Amino acid sequence: FASTQEFDVVVIGGGPGGYVSAIKNAQLNMKTACIEKRGALGGTCLNVGCIPSKSLLNNSHLYHQVKHEASTRGIDITGDIKVNVDNLQDAKQKSVKALTGGVEMLLKKNGVTYFKGEGSFVDEHNLNVKPIDGSEEFQVKGKNIIVATGSEPTPFPGIEIDEERIVSSTGVLDLKEVPKRLSIIGGGIIGLEMASVWSRLGSEVTVIEFQNAIGAGMDGEVAKQTQKLLAKQGLKFKLGTKVTKGVREGDVVKIEVEDVKSGKKEDLESDILLVAIGRRPYTKGLNLEKAGLEVDNKGRLVIDDQFRTKHSHIRVIGDVTFGPMLAHKAEEEGIAAAEYIKNGHGHVNYGNIPSVMYTHPEVAWVGSNEEQLKEQGIKYKVGKFPFIANSRAKTNLDTDGFVKFLADAETQRVLGVHIIGPNAGEMIAEAGLALEYGASTEDIARTCHAHPTLSEAFKEAALSTFDKPINF
Ligand code: FAD
Repeated sequence: FASTQEFDVVVIGGGPGGYVSAIKNAQLNMKTACIEKRGALGGTCLNVGCIPSKSLLNNSHLYHQVKHEASTRGIDITGDIKVNVDNLQDAKQKSVKALTGGVEMLLKKNGVTYFKGEGSFVDEHNLNVKPIDGSEEFQVKGKNIIVATGSEPTPFPGIEIDEERIVSSTGVLDLKEVPKRLSIIGGGIIGLEMASVWSRLGSEVTVIEFQNAIGAGMDGEVAKQTQKLLAKQGLKFKLGTKVTKGVREGDVVKIEVEDVKSGKKEDLESDILLVAIGRRPYTKGLNLEKAGLEVDNKGRLVIDDQFRTKHSHIRVIGDVTFGPMLAHKAEEEGIAAAEYIKNGHGHVNYGNIPSVMYTHPEVAWVGSNEEQLKEQGIKYKVGKFPFIANSRAKTNLDTDGFVKFLADAETQRVLGVHIIGPNAGEMIAEAGLALEYGASTEDIARTCHAHPTLSEAFKEAALSTFDKPINF
């Protein structure tokens, strides 16, 4: 037998949490290994999440613009404008491949040992690696172990996913043709992004949501406005509606729904049904019991505020533990976990983690929303500025949405920012900086913003919390 290799840190999972942490650990001069069983690095995010979805969103938006807006923008196109789903999928795959390959190079460059296989606990310090190429299993030992095994789509009880007609987020990213009818269970971010993609390409899309509002976690006013804008684009919404059945019958899916309030039933039919009701932590195959580790009632590995399990050398980050299931949250934790191991201190500000929905317009927010502030009894002021009054948005013929600031009523300290609008996802970074530095809305209103840019709407919304805006 070859002797067991020993590392300062072994990371299980090569997603945004795991690979970022592996790099950071190596940069802090710790001998580091990363075990990933997918055959490609980057996790859910790069392979079947953030990146492929954004490729489809970007290119379907371009198609929609060319098809429906070109002439108003002074571009005459003769002949048919058609979607080529094969090429659309190729473009997606190309970006995924380039990025996952790039991560592999980064691990190499930083001296991280990459094991392509499934990792499982043998005991608290030793892990078994089962290589995906079928070669002999072996063990590695970690002085420290970081679990970053991520999440998987939550199944809908009674509805069987075949990834052909009844699909999860993974299957809906891989459709080979534009479905005539697409029904979606769940009006959260993933559901609405996929609704946008396929609706732009020609599908009739129906979003079925149990709650009375879309976009779980959005500020109430923003959620309402977003729904209006998406409905204008052709999406149909069935809110306050419960799905009671979804079965494939040949090439169609039969769906039964029920109005939550009245109990009224309705039968629907669709070519594709997407189940997008959320994600759950993934710990299958880890053999947690061998290390004496436990999960809570939601399947999350339980940790303290330094990411430690009951064994202080085993830490957990990303989707497989508490907090929002977002790539950038997993990355921040990956860095902080490495710093805790090396220096004994690290930091993630959970009050300042942005959320972005990459529809068009985009929706982005960070900090508290109105409902949360009311619940906490915090007195606040609202400042709002619409993109219809912003010169760049007007020039770009892209004026839907607004910037909304929530600021402390007394001190004007920024408490939350909520944006619907073009490039909201980029603009929210400025709000994050403001929150991190404890800025007041006056600080922002007195900061010179370039003209003509969308970010002038950001500045004027900040100004509107304590004074009159100039351009509205
Ligand atoms: P993961 O990315 O899930 O990575 C975990 C990895 O561990 C996987 O590759 C898995 O193969 C591996 N693994 C598991 N068990 C083992 C084992 N025993 N041995 C070896 N390897 C193992 N987030 C955003 O921030 N922005 C977005 O725009 C966004 N869009 C999304 C769109 C979709 C369609 C989906 C599904 C998700 C999206 N997310 C987005 C969420 C984001 O993908 C996750 O929050 C993020 O990937 C979590 O990172 P992670 O490292 O914790 O886990």
